[in-house]
Amino acid sequence: MRELLSNSKNCHIVEPLLLWFRRAARDLPWRSTYDPYHVWISEIMLQQTQMDRGVVYFNRWIGRFPTVRAVAEADLQEILKYWEGLGYYARARNLHKAAKVIADELDGQVPCNYQLLLTLPGIGPYTAAAIASVAGNQDVAVIDANVTRVYARLFDIDTPAGESLTKKRISDMARELLPRGRARLYNQALMDLGGLVCLPRNPSCEVCPLASFCKARQVGTVAERPVLGPGKKIITVEKVAGIIRHGDRIFIQQRALEAVWGGLWEFPGGELQDGTAEEEVVRQILTETSLVVRVVLPVTTVIHHYTRYKIVLHSFLCELIGRNTQTTLRSAVDSRWVVPADLGSYAFPAGPRKILKYIKATSPSLFESPRP
Ligand code: SF4
Repeated sequence: MRELLSNSKNCHIVEPLLLWFRRAARDLPWRSTYDPYHVWISEIMLQQTQMDRGVVYFNRWIGRFPTVRAVAEADLQEILKYWEGLGYYARARNLHKAAKVIADELDGQVPCNYQLLLTLPGIGPYTAAAIASVAGNQDVAVIDANVTRVYARLFDIDTPAGESLTKKRISDMARELLPRGRARLYNQALMDLGGLVCLPRNPSCEVCPLASFCKARQVGTVAERPVLGPGKKIITVEKVAGIIRHGDRIFIQQRALEAVWGGLWEFPGGELQDGTAEEEVVRQILTETSLVVRVVLPVTTVIHHYTRYKIVLHSFLCELIGRNTQTTLRSAVDSRWVVPADLGSYAFPAGPRKILKYIKATSPSLFESPRP
């Protein structure tokens, strides 16, 4: 530990890194003004999201919500719709909550104070450090996956990156190396270096501005750094969902706010338990909604991933038996019978969205009831 810290003290990476950043910095919309609101939105959006995709969502978001107050005053359903496709919807719900606090208590201004930022919903140490340093140029080190990788290679750290001791080592080094008064540029330069040059696989060491300081390069361990811990086991969960047709309407229900994908809409169903998928979808719909349906035909099976879960979702077109549209919802909080053309105005999680995309592309007539 002591050796690593003394190495970091003697490591003169700042100037070559900043020189490189001046030349190679990515042209990102929030970098034109460093408006704290823009930086906040970009940081939340870019968690678990690729940069190109994040920029598209960012521009669309700022076009609709140009200020914090615009977010605070918007309906949660609209917020979720603008977030649709980014996943991890708790981020959007927390962003909405935080915007209300900022509008009501902080005069609509996103703070740049690290400690104050930590008090806002959905803002943890990483996001607080990013906003404080990038928007406010406060002397706070930012450590994300890219930065961790760069440091693990620069100092050839041979302990698993996920271990708390390793995290502490990197955090100590990051604090030590941070050039006072230049955190905005330094932090972004490190993140860009990790995103553009020091890539997880096949890093471009030959063009790296820090190549002459890189210990892993010197000793030939680049491909083994950072050291990864044991991979998380993927758990497969099979589910069924019923697209219930009745006349010219389709049934959708809204998930409870505190549930996974809270506030989003879906087709009713549940986890595949005993029985066949067809039997199960009829049973689950009855349990979840009290609607009595029969399966008309299987539609498609889609797969999506959520944290360490692989969700295999079997979908069926169902028809209401009789004319009873009364529902008693068990876990959902709202339900609607909507015309297919209106489905696009609701936010759906990945599974139902893939099903809708499949129907639109292959069999849009599926939603039409057979003529008597
Ligand atoms: S020399 Fe290679 S491994 Fe080392 S920091 Fe640069 S890109 Fe990363």
